[in-house]
Amino acid sequence: MIPYGKQDITQEDIDSVLNVLTSDFLTQGPKVPEFESAIAQYVGAKHAIAVNSATSALHIACMALGVDEHSWVWTSPLTFVASANCARLCGAKVDFVDVDPATGNMCPKALELKLAHAASIGKLPKVIIPVHLAGHSCNMQAIQQVASQYDIAIIEDASHAIGSRYHDKHVGCCQFSDICVFSFHPVKIVTTAEGGVLTTQNSNLVSKLKSLRSHGIDKNCAELLRPDEGDWYYEQHELGLNYRMSDIHAALGVSQLARLDNYTAKRNELAKQYQQRLSKLPLDTIEPLSNSYSARHLLLIKLHNPTKRKQVFNAMRQANIQVHVHYFPVHLQPYYLAQGFNEGDAPQAETLYSQLLSLPLYPELTPAQVDYICDTLEALL
Ligand SMILES: *Cc1c(COP(=O)(O)O)cnc(C)c1O
Repeated sequence: MIPYGKQDITQEDIDSVLNVLTSDFLTQGPKVPEFESAIAQYVGAKHAIAVNSATSALHIACMALGVDEHSWVWTSPLTFVASANCARLCGAKVDFVDVDPATGNMCPKALELKLAHAASIGKLPKVIIPVHLAGHSCNMQAIQQVASQYDIAIIEDASHAIGSRYHDKHVGCCQFSDICVFSFHPVKIVTTAEGGVLTTQNSNLVSKLKSLRSHGIDKNCAELLRPDEGDWYYEQHELGLNYRMSDIHAALGVSQLARLDNYTAKRNELAKQYQQRLSKLPLDTIEPLSNSYSARHLLLIKLHNPTKRKQVFNAMRQANIQVHVHYFPVHLQPYYLAQGFNEGDAPQAETLYSQLLSLPLYPELTPAQVDYICDTLEALL
């Protein structure tokens, strides 16, 4: 079976992890700060805070921005459920902004209209979470321009997009957002097995995020209630979690990060081959905005005839090609239907979903395999 995504593990990765296993610290040692510095430097952000998953990162990002049971949070319907669940975990209400059918990303125009309406009924969101589907950056400038009119914070869910660029800057530099979140799950661009990171330019958020990832305990708290208690002493000032990344995971991340640009280059080469091979078929490939460079987490195609999708999907799997579909619209998940959402709430996302198919894409995929995948698809269509 050709998988739809696959990690790449080298001897350097193995050595990097083994070194931690025989060192003094399996967790809370030097590898996590080393990984954080490497990420911050790579994306051009002042701060990076590593956690045990992007799901955790999204959760504490919402908490740090003050999302609570009185808040609304808006995200994209064409995403993994974690982009919306983070708000529910804070007790907030979730709503979905429809997507641009050309990219599958949050549509700035739809956002503008929805915000104008929300303002008129006093239900403006506290936070908006655009998602860079497939690694293709959202139109962040337009999204930020609209959101800033209402003083709304922005968390980028860049789980697919480490190594992506927008306006010649790396996604994660937070030029148009408050916080950016990356995932290091093995199907993503670089992996720590499980892991995530938050980046921000806002120094005021850093101690809050670090406290939230570790039980709400802050040893460097400037305002200790009992400053003279002793060196053993720490204080918990708020309710936090244990969302820390271990040094074992961080060591894998440090080692993987050194190959990030090779990975995105390879993914882009393969995407180009797909694009050329598929250009005459009754489908469109989903392409990034012209002023951006995509890390190409997923190779998404949009079939002109959605009635064929399931048949094509099954036949591709029969041919040992693990195609996939990203994503079933989040608002139609049973959990969100129970919150009152209905079919038709995000018509562009729902139509696009019915047409989408994800083809295999990962650095080790060979040009011959891409040919085989395209031949198979061509025969089926
Ligand atoms: C993978 C993914 C997440 C969750 O990442 P984890 O690190 O597995 O928690 C969140 N959002 C999107 C868009 C994702 O693809």
